[in-house]
Amino acid sequence: MFVDVAKITIKAGKGGDGAVSFRREKYVAAGGPDGGDGGRGGSVLFVADPNLSTLMDFRYKRKYAAQNGENGRGANSYGKSGEDLIIRVPRGTLVKDAETGGLIADISGDEPVVVAKGGRGGLGNRHFATPTRQIPRFAKPGLPGEELTVQLELKLIADVGLIGFPNVGKSTTLSRISAARPKIANYHFTTLSPVLGVVRVGEEASFVAADIPGLIEGASEGVGLGHDFLRHVERCRLLLHVVDVSGCEGRDPMDDFEKINAELEQFSPVLAQRPQIVLGNKCDIATDEQVAAFEQFVRDKGYDFLPISAATGKGLEKLPGIVFERLRELPPVAVFTPDYVKPAPRDAREFTVQKEEDGSFFVDAPWLERILEGSDVEDYESLQYFQTQLADLGVLDKLVELGVKEGDTVRIGEYEFDYLF
Ligand code: GDP
Ligand code: MG
Repeated sequence: MFVDVAKITIKAGKGGDGAVSFRREKYVAAGGPDGGDGGRGGSVLFVADPNLSTLMDFRYKRKYAAQNGENGRGANSYGKSGEDLIIRVPRGTLVKDAETGGLIADISGDEPVVVAKGGRGGLGNRHFATPTRQIPRFAKPGLPGEELTVQLELKLIADVGLIGFPNVGKSTTLSRISAARPKIANYHFTTLSPVLGVVRVGEEASFVAADIPGLIEGASEGVGLGHDFLRHVERCRLLLHVVDVSGCEGRDPMDDFEKINAELEQFSPVLAQRPQIVLGNKCDIATDEQVAAFEQFVRDKGYDFLPISAATGKGLEKLPGIVFERLRELPPVAVFTPDYVKPAPRDAREFTVQKEEDGSFFVDAPWLERILEGSDVEDYESLQYFQTQLADLGVLDKLVELGVKEGDTVRIGEYEFDYLF
């Protein structure tokens, strides 16, 4: 069975809580705060694994969670970060938000992609000591990790493209060598799109072949081949050029071969540069002379040739091995479609303001913290900018609502300000 979609839930780890702790030293009654920070929660990442060709495994296991961060401890001990969870998927898998359908990531490259981010660890109480408050009895809890349901869609990237005139036997050939026969039928869309099949070569190895149906048919009818189509087939590293050597439809195989190559050049000069193996099909109804003459013609032009009969299966048993060996020698296709549309992180501008026991205010706003981290707080202009952000975001309103007074302490992450408006 060939599974190409799956829905799973992924959950990044929660950040560990910051610790409330005080130093204990000999002869010192009560030492300063030394509560360490909680560790960051592990993230959930996706990475392409060239050995996988289906999403089958995801039908059985549907929940994936990364490790939580450890809580901070006394003596300024940090909690350990949670381990990331790396989910291996076939190359070309699309990760979509199951609710909105938005594309989160296209797992086509070599680098793992973070899809659910681990929560930040909370700060330990040692961060909250000030000259006026030496015994901070609070610390920050860790933040929850991102959690979402994603739809995985396997968009196979074809290594090999089958080209040729209509009715020469491209589809028959693909369904013969492909392990994905039952599902293939479902890939027929009303639009012209390539039909894909996974071809197994022994236990471990496989490659993906695409039937490229629209090439001649579409071109002659003036049907526009979509950008998607081109994008897909241009990734092919090798072409299998299927020719009906029997000429059973009243055409000449040599003429067919030249015409297709000319059309290919017009359709996509990029594709026309790809190496070809010529498959002389319908050998079961061709004479030996026909096959020999065509083989000579093709070999004179410098192409490899394989006589087959897709109908009877003769010659096809060698095909996967030959193709696989050829693919090994060929460079990987360098162009990967940059259809990488990461949606704006959710809740990016969310914040909370809370009044602490000691009368100070704590603003939890990851977004603001990032701004702070990137700016020089001693610098007048940076600070001006920052204050504008505070106002725009509604933080100031919220502070006023909670009764902030001139001179009160306002803490944003690790930064501390006096309220002076
Ligand atoms: P495509 O248009 O290139 O995809 O061709 P199809 O695979 O649909 O085949 C077109 C017709 O040729 C079908 O009727 C097939 O049964 C027939 N056909 C395909 N391969 C062979 C073959 O090796 N020998 C014979 N005799 N007929 C074949
Ligand atoms: Mg066909």
